[in-house]
Amino acid sequence: MSKITYTCSKCKAAGEVDSNDYETQEEKFEEGMGTKTEYWTEIETQCDKDACGNSITITLNETEYPEGNFEETTVSSSSGADNIVIH
Ligand SMILES: [Zn+2]
Repeated sequence: MSKITYTCSKCKAAGEVDSNDYETQEEKFEEGMGTKTEYWTEIETQCDKDACGNSITITLNETEYPEGNFEETTVSSSSGADNIVIH
């Protein structure tokens, strides 16, 4: 995964994080075409503006199925941020 941009839902300031800076957890399932792996990356950050200090949480989900085939990363859930784009 890579760069994530968003706007703070409180002050509308633009922000940017690198998903590689955050820990990714994986869950494996056995399905018809073999192993399916779900990757979950929870990004916890704060608005870049010191005066705002809004807490921002973005959870990303990526599915690998069948093995070696990565589907598009999606935003599973978020709080404190709008207009989240995965680059
Ligand atoms: Zn803000």
